[in-house]
Parts: sequence; C-alpha cells; structure tokens
Amino acid sequence: MAAAGEPEVIRDKAAMRAWSRRRRAEGKTVVLVPTMGFLHEGHLSLVSTAANASAGAPVAVVVSIYVNPSQFAPTEDLATYPSDLAGDLRKLASTGAVHAVFNPPDLYVRGTDGSGGAAVSGSCLQEAAGGHETWIRVERLEVGLCGSSRPVFFRGVATVVSKLFNVVEPDVAVFGKKDYQQWRLICRMVRDLDFAIEIIGSEIVREADGLAMSSRNVHLSREEREKALSISKSLVNARTSALKNSNSASQHMKNQIAQTLSEAGGRVDYVEIVEQESLVPVDTIDRPVVICVAAWFGKVRLIDNIEIHPGS
Ligand code: AMP
Repeated sequence: MAAAGEPEVIRDKAAMRAWSRRRRAEGKTVVLVPTMGFLHEGHLSLVSTAANASAGAPVAVVVSIYVNPSQFAPTEDLATYPSDLAGDLRKLASTGAVHAVFNPPDLYVRGTDGSGGAAVSGSCLQEAAGGHETWIRVERLEVGLCGSSRPVFFRGVATVVSKLFNVVEPDVAVFGKKDYQQWRLICRMVRDLDFAIEIIGSEIVREADGLAMSSRNVHLSREEREKALSISKSLVNARTSALKNSNSASQHMKNQIAQTLSEAGGRVDYVEIVEQESLVPVDTIDRPVVICVAAWFGKVRLIDNIEIHPGS
C-alpha cells in the first residue's frame, strides 16, 4: 500500500465511523491505536506495530488522540496533562503509516445525574442530554496494582476505549505493554463482551538509559529523571536474579526493589509480582510473571514493568 502521507484529521464521531466503513469496504483492515497525545517514540512504535498488523492485507491505521477525563480522579493531573496537537500531527505524518487521526472534542461528557434536557425525538441516537452515566467495569482486573491508588481509572479506560471501539469499529487495536494492567484488562473486556477486535500488545520503548518513555516524563526535573532510572535498573536486576535462581521468593524481590526505589528518593506506590494474564500475585517465581512498579519521583507518578519467563 502507498505511504499514508498527511493523515486526515477527523473530529466528528459519525464521520469517523463512515471513514472506517469506507476503508473496510475497500478491503482494508482497520487498525486503531488509542493515545492521549503528546506523542513520543513509544506511541510511534505502536503505529509501526499497527502498520504491520495484518499479514499481507492492506491496513488503514487510525490513531486516536483524546485525553480521557473519565479516567482521572479530581485530585489527579488532568489539568496539567501535556498536549501538543500540531506536534503530534507532524510526528504521525512523518511515519508515513497513519491514514487518519481521530481527535474528538467530547467523547465523554462529565455529568452528575444524567439529567439536563429532553431528547428531541424518541431516538436513542440523539446526542445525549446531560452527563455520562453508563460504565464498563472489568471487576477483578480493575482492582490491585494501579487500581488500588486510582480507583476510578480503569472504569474510565474501559468505558472510553469501548466508545472508541464503537465509533471507529476497528478490526485490530494496538496497546502498549507499558500500561500492562490496562492491556490485560482490555483483552479481557474484548473477550467478555464479544468485541470482534484483535488486541495486540506492543513492547515497551525505553530511552537509551532505560527510562520507559512516557508523556509525563516531561514533568521530571533533571535530578528526578536521574533518580527515576532506579526503576528500570531495579527491574532488570530482579529479572537477572530470577533467571539465575529458580523459584525465587517474590516477597524478597519486591522488598529489594522497593528499597532501591526509596533509597533513590522515590515514593513507592506499589511493587507487585503477578501472573502475566490473570495478574494474580505469586509467592514464587516459578511461572511466567510480570513485575509491576509504580512510584512517585517529585510530582510525577511513573509506572513500569518487566516480564519474566523462568527457564528461558
Ligand atoms: P497514553 O498516551 O500514555 O495513554 O498511551 C497510549 C498508548 O501508548 C498506550 O497503549 C500505552 O501503553 C502506549 N505507550 C505509552 N508509552 C509507551 C512506551 N514507552 N512503550 C510502548 N508503548 C507505550
């Protein structure tokens, strides 16, 4: 397929759905990459995964840029979440692999009681009066890890990703393993609700020194960024040790990581070692696991993880 060049920017939901349906009628596989913008190489690697998502068949790649208010608690950083739409569009155009950018102004409307006016006709498709009151919850996977300190986060993610799926109607959607719990939760939601969408998990992209790329890294001072390297270093050390010593005890490893992060000046939110698909905590590293970490450096909460396949 020819290079995509400048992606078409679509803001309207009906126009987005019509665009996707046209692409599918042309025999293309529609691949969605959901993002909150302020794009970096990590996001662009998802675009590259998307471009290669369909062996042989032509793809139509849609990147959505939408800062989802419903996943932020009132105390969190929605107001300061970085954005640069013009820069994002330039970066996406430079890949030559993106065909459309979906940038809806109002995918989710915050509301308290769902009231606020009468629909003009009896059609449920009339633009909703009042706020949003329907939620998707993945009941077990949304608790623990990031769900403990961010209790409304995954409800917001699952609901808005479902809306994106309903509007864009993709055949494939690509998520980063950087947000490991989010990726697993979306896989589970798609399975449980019979979305006819293949979910691909794309590997974490890191800076040369190991820091996992994140839109929030821009808020780190130089010193905080230096201290935050303790996250990836402690994860790599833990994996090396787990591969060397079979059946390592999780608790000891979690304590060591937490101590390293604290000594570096971080404030640990959690360190957990869990099964890769179920995210159930393990006592012993005797099966494929993932170590997940969240820690604050200054005012920035960072997450990272590393998969371990014992015996590999
Ligand atoms: P965000 O814009 O932070 O909501 O992220 C949008 C998508 O990009 C999510 O699926 C993330 O997991 C993914 N992503 C963010 N950072 C990275 C990274 N460093 N490597 C790979 N994927 C990433």
